Amino acid sequence: GGLAPAATVDLDRDQVLGVLEAVWRRGDSALEKSLYGHAAAVTAKYCGGGVYYRGLVEFSNICQNDCSYCGIRNNQKDVYRYTMTEEEVVEVAKWALENGIRNIMLQSGELHTEQRLEYLERIVRAIRKETVELDLARRAVAACGDGSLAAPSADAAIKNPEAEDELGVAVSLSVGELPYEHYERLFKAGARRYLIRIETSNPDLYAALHPPPLSWSHRVDCLRALKKIGYMLGTGVMVGLPGQTLRDLAGDVVFFKQERADMIGMGPFITQDGTPATRVWTDLYPAVDKNAHMKSMFELTTAMNALVRITMGNVNISATTAMQAIIPTGREIALERGANVVMPILTPTKYRESYQLYEGKPCITDTAVQCRRCLDMRLASVGKASAAGVWGDPASYLHP
Ligand code: SAM
Repeated sequence: GGLAPAATVDLDRDQVLGVLEAVWRRGDSALEKSLYGHAAAVTAKYCGGGVYYRGLVEFSNICQNDCSYCGIRNNQKDVYRYTMTEEEVVEVAKWALENGIRNIMLQSGELHTEQRLEYLERIVRAIRKETVELDLARRAVAACGDGSLAAPSADAAIKNPEAEDELGVAVSLSVGELPYEHYERLFKAGARRYLIRIETSNPDLYAALHPPPLSWSHRVDCLRALKKIGYMLGTGVMVGLPGQTLRDLAGDVVFFKQERADMIGMGPFITQDGTPATRVWTDLYPAVDKNAHMKSMFELTTAMNALVRITMGNVNISATTAMQAIIPTGREIALERGANVVMPILTPTKYRESYQLYEGKPCITDTAVQCRRCLDMRLASVGKASAAGVWGDPASYLHP
């Protein structure tokens, strides 16, 4: 009570926990209504009605790690392993630009070789160079009419990224825990955003799901390194991990703020055959009605989004693919409860079935064209539109 309608609110862990408990129990529809209403008001204040697209390119499923929940972990059987060629990745980026998607996220399993690093450096440089050139060519054509505008050269734009005036396609990376120097080299190559979920802010739960040499403290070091180098930092968690508590989730909301994340992506944990976490989950919850359970996890995830929006204000929050896996209109619902980013999958269709992180991952047989069109329609269904043509930096990054 007494709050300005779109004010951010500083909630401590116990207060966040109180809200999550109420959502978990359901039945307090007045609380849910004001939670989501407030989140929508804060979203409108910082993001307007525009939704940012991030084109997701899952360029390789080769992974040296063995995260116990993941369908492309190193020890997962019967997975055809692929890596897209550099040309294929750059082509997707150019297609994205032509289709009004100015931000692409290159995601893969983890591989810490020099060869992989150089592959990524070449791709990031090529995407920046070629999409900036495409953009400049378009501007030159547009300016031809009145002859008044001399287009700046692509070289000048690339050499001075601060003044690049949102030219070309911005490159985000989601390729895991790399050595500090690798992060630096990829930043120099032109990547500006990095997504690395902490997965859970509870170190013990993290340890239960990630066999050594993976460790929670190293993952936190990576988050901080990325921030220090100057990346926009994206992080997030899964909701409903086996053994996770509401108190853990409340801690996650506080963690994002403490680490000054610029982007948050959360999704429900979804089972996948052949993974250790799924066996643990099935043993822990033998009698659970899975459909009802997943719906509850969906509700909790949207409540988490709303709480992050209310506590952090001007960050980017994505309506993740895993939300759509549970409810077909899941992402649209998330956009009405605090999220402002969606990630159309642009991975070439022939690779999609090999990037099966969890059961029921949507859009496996679709093309990028279909995904883009489908999303436009979905946004319209909740009165939103893509903020096409802009990079969509979160205000938290532009005005720290
Ligand atoms: N390897 C990189 C990393 O660890 O950051 C990026 C790729 S990883 C496959 C991307 C995300 O997929 C993870 O951060 C994790 O949260 C999510 N994921 C993996 N398995 C999942 C599952 N069974 N259910 C829901 N999300 C899952």
